[in-house]
Amino acid sequence: MIVAPDPARPGEGLSMAADPALRAPGVALVGAEGTRVLDGLRAGLAAAFGGSEDHFLAPPVIARAVSERAGYPNAFPHLLGTVHGTEDDGPTDLVLTSAACHHVYPLLAGTVLGGERQFGVEAVCFRAEATAETGRLRSFRMYEVVRFGAPEEVQRWRDRALESAVEWVGGLGLTVEVVAANDPFFGRPGRLLAAVQRSEELKWELLAPVDDRQVQAIASANGHKDHFGAAFGLALADGSPAHSACVAFGLDRVVLALRHRHGERTGDWPAHVRQALALGPRPERTGGAASTSRGAQRAGEKGRTSR
Ligand SMILES: [Zn+2]
Repeated sequence: MIVAPDPARPGEGLSMAADPALRAPGVALVGAEGTRVLDGLRAGLAAAFGGSEDHFLAPPVIARAVSERAGYPNAFPHLLGTVHGTEDDGPTDLVLTSAACHHVYPLLAGTVLGGERQFGVEAVCFRAEATAETGRLRSFRMYEVVRFGAPEEVQRWRDRALESAVEWVGGLGLTVEVVAANDPFFGRPGRLLAAVQRSEELKWELLAPVDDRQVQAIASANGHKDHFGAAFGLALADGSPAHSACVAFGLDRVVLALRHRHGERTGDWPAHVRQALALGPRPERTGGAASTSRGAQRAGEKGRTSR
């Protein structure tokens, strides 16, 4: 998950090819320890965002028709990955999953909502990101909670979900900055406050440092209004399109932020963080080789740049 690691020191549970010729920037393997952390994050998210009727594990590909209906190729043509057959066949009926929640909308297409509905969904997503900065992955795991309902209810849920997300990552020892995704004045406190008070903002991001120089969005809370309800024919009882919202977590980025905050080795992470992730008690150190936790060294450090 580290984009440009030192091949000689790939880090606990994260791996990329040592030979640059065999390495794809933004594509990495998760090892055993990383997998345990991911499992802990999933369990924590399921507890923090209870109330989902069902939870889905989605494939890395999705029907091109769904992506088009969602409006993704129009809005982000440069990020979309497509699946091609032979040179003669050209593009297939599949594209790569851009956002986990895209898998949920077709399940409700053409139906009338009886009340609020909520689903969890996780997918391996792809976005053709051009940069090689830490955490700007091209292939990554996205965990989403998606809510459907009437306009006011969905708006209230989105606001609560944003708060819950901040609280949840706070419980993991992460301090995040909450910003309106499109606010170009990110970082100026006055503007930020004003932005947060603007209730029309549809997308909020939780930013956290993932290395000494780089801040990335580790989660976002998104209001869709009636975009997906209208696109997929999902109606309220009065016939108007249902509203929807989602809260999305970039699981790989959360892991990067945790490693930056608490140290490379999960054995060094604070007891309450290990407990929250079901990693068990801190392992006993043998001998006198205990190293200072990176997290302790970094407490209060403020290395960040805007995106
Ligand atoms: Zn979403």
